[in-house]
Amino acid sequence: MNHEVNRNIMAIGAHADDIEVNVGATLLKYHEMGYAITYVMATNNMSGSVSEVQSDGSIKVFREGPVAMMGRRKRECDEAARVLGTVPIHLDHPQRHYHPGVEGACLELRYGCALPEGVPADVPSILTAADDAASVSRLSTLILEKSPECVLTHTALDPNIEHSAVCTLVTKAFWEAVENGFTGGLLYWNCGHSMYGEFSMRWDTFIQVDQYLDRKMELVGKHRCQMPTASAPDHGHRLLTEWRGKSCGCRAAEVFNWVRRPARCSKMLTGMFSPIFGEISTELLHNTR
Ligand SMILES: [Zn+2]
Repeated sequence: MNHEVNRNIMAIGAHADDIEVNVGATLLKYHEMGYAITYVMATNNMSGSVSEVQSDGSIKVFREGPVAMMGRRKRECDEAARVLGTVPIHLDHPQRHYHPGVEGACLELRYGCALPEGVPADVPSILTAADDAASVSRLSTLILEKSPECVLTHTALDPNIEHSAVCTLVTKAFWEAVENGFTGGLLYWNCGHSMYGEFSMRWDTFIQVDQYLDRKMELVGKHRCQMPTASAPDHGHRLLTEWRGKSCGCRAAEVFNWVRRPARCSKMLTGMFSPIFGEISTELLHNTR
């Protein structure tokens, strides 16, 4: 084993459940192989709705105010991150809107609007975070500090505008970190949405997760208010992971596009400078087409 490899994977998601849905099985697999997981939550999770399964099997959907919603979704994040042996790091960029607690109402954050309770005034909304040098620097400093072998995040084109905004923020922070000596890789996970047609049907590489699908769905299910039926055998995210597996020649897979491969070099092993790859880069490179 090459101890120069920093066995750390950083996953950065917009909302509570994005990391588990997109790369939960990859993180379970590599955490089991000794990797530390850096779990980064970009927004404050103040919006969204709560879905609850009722005793008759029906699902009741209701809204909560921003303070209750942030508390609820962060508690669910804590639970999921614990399974991955870590605690979430919250960047707390406000979401673009929130529900003040009144059924049906949705308030959008705009210039000059009063912010809801519990939201600091000096952290820009996720939609403009990538334009804010301090926000980019804060994340690039975190990337340098953790020095992961790979950073995993949303793809640039996603129907959810907050997902795309996170991608831009992470990508800017990544290149700033590279400028300051970071040698890890960056990959975008696939949004899985068919709206972009063929664009979303292509990926460069994958992680085979045949043995991790059940545990992935358990992990997804930690986000009870978003994924109350994660244990269902026909849950959409289970079927999507299986469908991708079939496309990749296995039973279950999570799929990615490279932005940059890890570029760490050392001469410790061979006496001359050569690239060093940990297990996750090795699998990703092996599966790259
Ligand atoms: Zn999301």
